[in-house]
Amino acid sequence: MPADLREQILRLEDTFAISTETLKKITKQFVSELYQGLTPEGGDIPMNPTWCMAFPTGDETGTFLALDMGGTNLRVCEIVLTEENGEFEIIQSKYRMPEELKSGTGEELWGYIADCLQQFIEYHHEGENLGKLPLGFTFSYPATQEYIDHGVLQRWTKGFDIEGVEGKDVVPPFEEALKERDVPIKVAALTNDTTGTLIASAYTDPDMRIGCIFGTGCNAAYMEHCGEIGKLAHMKLGKDTPMIINCEWGAFDNKHAVLPRTQYDVIIDKESPRPGQQSYEKMIAGLYLGELFRLVLLDIHTHEGVKIFEDQDVSKLRKPYTLDSSFLSAIEEDPFENLTETHELFQRTLSIDAKKPELELCRRLAELIGIRAARLTACGIAAICTKKGWSACHVGADGSVFNKYPNFKQRQARALREILDWDTAEDGKWKRKDPIEVLAAEDGSGVGAALVAALTLKRVQEGNL
Ligand code: BGC
Ligand code: MG
Repeated sequence: MPADLREQILRLEDTFAISTETLKKITKQFVSELYQGLTPEGGDIPMNPTWCMAFPTGDETGTFLALDMGGTNLRVCEIVLTEENGEFEIIQSKYRMPEELKSGTGEELWGYIADCLQQFIEYHHEGENLGKLPLGFTFSYPATQEYIDHGVLQRWTKGFDIEGVEGKDVVPPFEEALKERDVPIKVAALTNDTTGTLIASAYTDPDMRIGCIFGTGCNAAYMEHCGEIGKLAHMKLGKDTPMIINCEWGAFDNKHAVLPRTQYDVIIDKESPRPGQQSYEKMIAGLYLGELFRLVLLDIHTHEGVKIFEDQDVSKLRKPYTLDSSFLSAIEEDPFENLTETHELFQRTLSIDAKKPELELCRRLAELIGIRAARLTACGIAAICTKKGWSACHVGADGSVFNKYPNFKQRQARALREILDWDTAEDGKWKRKDPIEVLAAEDGSGVGAALVAALTLKRVQEGNL
């Protein structure tokens, strides 16, 4: 490999590496921000009370709709929770979420979603008299909730920039759009994807304590006690009353005190629709990993004295957000010694005919970005467990990065061991079962949202809250 490229690799290793010591420092700060977010004064991490106040027992029954408004797809499910304990049936349809919607108006957004729901009902229940079907709406953005069936959007995340929605309750305009179309649906609960993930996972695993999403965005929810939630003290809910908190931990360290941000992270933030927000998320979530990779390559390309992609047309590489995290996954997964598939990928996606040493640099860069992301996510998990004093539990995780990014789970688990000082065997290998395990979650925005709706209706029937 040419010396200039080798030097660049060393520089990148230095730029993206995060030592055990730094992980521990970040975790410590994380714990204090979790506490801070629960106080009346608040902090960077919103720590939103969700009004989900119980885990399901398995006895929940009924028919529910669930709507998942994700970044790329809109998914509608109908879930029947059957008499058999813990069993359910599900049918679902997916609709594309047009890119233009993300920067359009609220009216367009709610209209589009209502149209999809209408189509779903017409397709599956043509001519039936349904009454009003209860809907669990998975709305995966930070929302302030005073009731479970409402939510004021705090701010858009994940690149969304729809005008006129922030600072307002999202449910009334959505229900208005349903009404205009005569769609027989009532929002029973508005739920974050992490809350749904926790509820759905706890449905089948009593050791579940935390629900996480490592996907386009990144976040976690866990079960807190109201006595710990200073900002709800005025409601006198009883200190042992459980309440799921949607952390919105993507906002961790928005003050830039501990996260080792690189020049590339700074650019991502500056160019995003919401600069200064979601500092932690912008270093780890799927939406940003490909963009980080692109920014680094472009920087090296324009750097004097380093020869990379010389005489190549890099115009495609210059376009923001052309690469998503699946591009990095594919590079990391390339099984061939001479990186044949990576070469192919560069040609196909970027029209760049890359040389072998260039491909090797790209492979290393993909690894470094993937490793950094996975290691940083362990800080959030360790912080919640530390705050709650949980030394052994299960964490349910979902999302494209967790499920599809190669080695993500192993890298995250390893970082967790480093942070929490779980000792390794003499040969450096880990022998025991990890006391805190991150496991693939159940379908949070389908079954989870339906369960939240079911639990809410049960609470209403029992006359609580
Ligand atoms: C949102 C969270 C969500 C996470 C994962 C973040 O950008 O703010 O509400 O849970 O993405 O989807
Ligand atoms: Mg999702």
